[in-house]
Amino acid sequence: MGVTWRAAVLAAVAWLAAASSPASAEGCRYLATAADAAASSLDVEVECAGDGPHGFLPWPAVHGSYLTGLAGQAGSRVDNEGGRIAVTGAGGLSRFAYRIDLDGVARDGRWRYQAIRVDQALAAPLAVWVLQPERSDVALTLAVASDHGAGFATALQPGAGGYRLLSQDVTHAGYGVIGRFLTRRIPLAPPPGAGGVPATLDVAIMADRFAVGTDTLIDWFGESAGVVADYFHGFPMARALLVLEPVAGRSGVVFGRVMSGGGGSVLMRVGERATRQELHGSWVLVHELSHLAMPFLTDRAMWFMEGMATYVEPILRARAGWIMPEAVWAEFAEGMVRGVAGIETKRVAQPASLYWGGALFMLIADIDMRRRSAGRLGLEHCLRRVLGEGGDSTRRWPQAPMIDACDALTGGRAMADLAADFLANRLAVDLASLWRELGVEIAAGTVKFDDGAPLASIRRGIVSGN
Ligand SMILES: [Zn+2]
Repeated sequence: MGVTWRAAVLAAVAWLAAASSPASAEGCRYLATAADAAASSLDVEVECAGDGPHGFLPWPAVHGSYLTGLAGQAGSRVDNEGGRIAVTGAGGLSRFAYRIDLDGVARDGRWRYQAIRVDQALAAPLAVWVLQPERSDVALTLAVASDHGAGFATALQPGAGGYRLLSQDVTHAGYGVIGRFLTRRIPLAPPPGAGGVPATLDVAIMADRFAVGTDTLIDWFGESAGVVADYFHGFPMARALLVLEPVAGRSGVVFGRVMSGGGGSVLMRVGERATRQELHGSWVLVHELSHLAMPFLTDRAMWFMEGMATYVEPILRARAGWIMPEAVWAEFAEGMVRGVAGIETKRVAQPASLYWGGALFMLIADIDMRRRSAGRLGLEHCLRRVLGEGGDSTRRWPQAPMIDACDALTGGRAMADLAADFLANRLAVDLASLWRELGVEIAAGTVKFDDGAPLASIRRGIVSGN
């Protein structure tokens, strides 16, 4: 049914030819060769322009036991200084090699989700096997040789001779899959400003073990990505990778995670026994895909990123017709109690209240924007504007320009002031009166609407977008 074993795509031969020519290359080139079809380990050769010395920092998960065979090549010298590796070249090139024991990392319980083994497929964030140059601005080219029939799926940008990324993006670079696995490509609405070229979501299926069947999962991914594309007026980025890991003996959606350095990737851990109802009933996938539509905010602004994804997820599912508007407000009413508790205990930026504290902030900001614009503009307009300016999750922004982009829409500094109050735990929220103003009546766990409430039209606009 259109599922094919992934044929390896990569330009290993071209790379080797280029590697033997004199020092014309800029930056560093990495060539990884899987030791076998399942990529139980990777042999990596690196060539950098210039004699250096070049400093490299191995990822903590591999340093020590899982990084072996570190040696200079063609006259280059490697000094392993504990946590730092220095490579000194000769004749304008620095060359060295090393081996990463991927299965070793996968078996090591200390490094959850750093390397995931399912049958013949191995999923890992790039940092597990790409030694990161110390300098942040080194241009890296990356290829995985197709020896033994091992394929490679990644969200990185392809270019001549391999995939491209900057050294500063290695730390948070996304998941790639190496070995033997299935792939499917889902075409989606183009991102804002992409000139009409459809976006693609590539799905790497680590093993086809799902009781509902792979087609049901692919449909679910396509529908969920479509819901996100509808909300943001286009899928957030031109291409993204979704890694699907079957979890043995489990039902439902187990876990999701986004990593976007150099290209957006989503890891979805789904129970082998998951039912169609469980897939569509789960919040996880829409939440994760929403993360692709916002820059990664530095300066510890996890609360803003998680708040956005937590807030928009039920709204998106309601707009898709998957849940009723009442269910959105029931979820808000239940979750935001935790957000208020986080504010009251002054732990708003802590994990326990990160999601719902942030979502409460988004609700207050959304109401405020709609009030100021007489219902014309809301949070969604500011999120679309940021995305339209290229602010997807592969970008790293400080929090301030994100908030400024929202305030610029309605004028003034409402969101900046709200964020300052929120972070200083000065935000006093009386949830009971907020629900009353919005016309959300909660009794015995069910929600009813009061359309005579002062903010009833704003409540309807939040969910319907009108
Ligand atoms: Zn999240």
